[in-house]
Amino acid sequence: MNGKTQAIKQKKLVVLGSTGSIGESALKVARDLPEHMRLIALAANRSADKLTQQVKDTGVQHACLYDEAACKEFESMTGGSVATCCGEEGLIELATLPEADMVLIAIVGTAGLRPALAAIEAGKDIAVASKEILVMAGETVMKAARKYGVNVLPVDSEHNAIFQCLENRKVSEVTRLILTASGGPFRELPASELGDVTLQQALKHPTWEMGQKITIDSATLFNKGLEMIEARWLFDVEMDRVDVIVHPQSIVHSMVEFVDGSILAQLSTTDMCFPIQYAVTWPERVPNTLPPLDFAALGKLEFEKPRFDDFPALNLANQAGREGGTLPAVLNAANEIAVEKFLAGALSFPKIWQTVEEAMMAHQNVSEPSLEQILEADQWARRQAESFLNNA
Ligand code: MG
Repeated sequence: MNGKTQAIKQKKLVVLGSTGSIGESALKVARDLPEHMRLIALAANRSADKLTQQVKDTGVQHACLYDEAACKEFESMTGGSVATCCGEEGLIELATLPEADMVLIAIVGTAGLRPALAAIEAGKDIAVASKEILVMAGETVMKAARKYGVNVLPVDSEHNAIFQCLENRKVSEVTRLILTASGGPFRELPASELGDVTLQQALKHPTWEMGQKITIDSATLFNKGLEMIEARWLFDVEMDRVDVIVHPQSIVHSMVEFVDGSILAQLSTTDMCFPIQYAVTWPERVPNTLPPLDFAALGKLEFEKPRFDDFPALNLANQAGREGGTLPAVLNAANEIAVEKFLAGALSFPKIWQTVEEAMMAHQNVSEPSLEQILEADQWARRQAESFLNNA
């Protein structure tokens, strides 16, 4: 990690994506740690009702809705009691509020990318929960963070675990980052039956309760694939040093193997409040009211090799991470379209990775892309995936 590491007693936080599952956990952490964390602004996509309630509960002075219609509705509901802004411009305004110390980016999809860069340029630390930011533009974001001397703190449980295990150690001392994967609901399902799984089955995650998109990504293992690419940029290691192991209990959140053969792991119960808290209070550890881990009750922790052949997401992500350029953005966007259609009941489960593979194969990769080229590749991949699925 670069930049300032001095502890700020009470961090003033902007939450982009406050009505989603990570956002709600962040509000819980803020309630639990009033001395360490103060919310000053909340933004959501289109949940005007929920945001109104959150603004009331937290007393923040600033709010934003990405969706313009929902934003108008919100403004009339709150009657000007809170400073409101709308759209992407609004997100950027909140991300650069002069009084903010840190911006938590927990928006699904690509909408968080420009606000994240704006926050960095304004000298704010960012806590990143949105995978898309580091998958699509990891190089750009980390370069900007180094330039402006700010910290990029991972909120994803795996990356937060690795961050805790690394604690500013040199990358040259690391032989492997070992990401753990729950394996999802189809971990033990024979390959021949993957074609018949239903949406309801795919939405049943064995250990984590999360939003729908990420739950499907966990079932295909694209979630882990995106996390491999995320780790590659966040910790500045090549894909060769990013490994995945299936760990059905989701208690070991990830591990780091060092050159001396020692492995450090981070463990806790499965609650996103843990990584959110650490991102906010780092470099300090402070007590909370979260449930402790009971090893005797757990009994055992298991590990097994991922089924690379049956779940192609990992190999596709490995390829995208290795080749870099605009290919990770293509993987991410094609997957988003395919998952959207799967959630609408219009797609078989294996079609998700087939769509991604097709878009990746058809893509003309651009190396060292600009932000515009990344966003263009994103749009191209969406069109490509749509037409592939329409013609299938
Ligand atoms: Mg994760």
